[in-house]
Amino acid sequence: MTAQIKDILYPLLRRVEDFFIPPLCIVCDGLLSDDRDGGGGIWLCPSCVSALVQNHAQRDACPRCAQNRKTRECACEVAWDFPFERVYCVYDYDNTLSVIAKHIKYHGKSGLAYRIGAVGAPLIPTDFFDGIDAVIPVPLHRLKLRRRGYNQAERFAGGVLTGLGMDTTLLRNDLLSRVKNTKTQTRLSRDERRENLASAFAVNGQKAGRLTGTRVALVDDVFTTGATTEACAAALLGAGCASVIVLAMGRD
Ligand SMILES: [Zn+2]
Ligand SMILES: [Zn+2]
Repeated sequence: MTAQIKDILYPLLRRVEDFFIPPLCIVCDGLLSDDRDGGGGIWLCPSCVSALVQNHAQRDACPRCAQNRKTRECACEVAWDFPFERVYCVYDYDNTLSVIAKHIKYHGKSGLAYRIGAVGAPLIPTDFFDGIDAVIPVPLHRLKLRRRGYNQAERFAGGVLTGLGMDTTLLRNDLLSRVKNTKTQTRLSRDERRENLASAFAVNGQKAGRLTGTRVALVDDVFTTGATTEACAAALLGAGCASVIVLAMGRD
């Protein structure tokens, strides 16, 4: 079967299946709320939605590196070497969030990425986007984008902007590209990731001039070592951006 037919057929089959077997919570198999427009949508039960609220409320996040200081000491005062100014993460990467992140990334749930952004938006500090000229999702390589069909960071960012009632034209997926399709990074150290990502991102040639002096908010799904956002920020600053801050759904 060609990829194109699969892209059309599989979501259709999923809908037929959902009609006969109502979907359960993707995290705990619990029953979903009758109000599918409520916080969890067609993915999360009310108790997993409240687990997310608790997850956020219980964070004692460093305002610079977003490390949860309740679980791990943050060393950014002495060891900050990122090119971006600060990073804000909405949630800790706990069990609930790791299941959500996997579904968003590997199981085609782009709507869930958007939903988590919209639900999480009010939790982001109100001044986070002050003075920001562009919101740029961490780009996927075009081959990966074609295979996945969407960029989960872009969907998350779209949900956030909509949730905050912000101008969605701030969201720009045309300025930064992933030009190197790097191997998977999950088992690599920070230094190995850095090496793996060297020159993986580039500002799009014709658009480069437009970035001069702009302040950018870079958006990713999960912030782990920061190597990916670091490589993106380096490309943006190299193209003349005045500053880069980072927003991520989860802090690993
Ligand atoms: Zn649940
Ligand atoms: Zn810190």
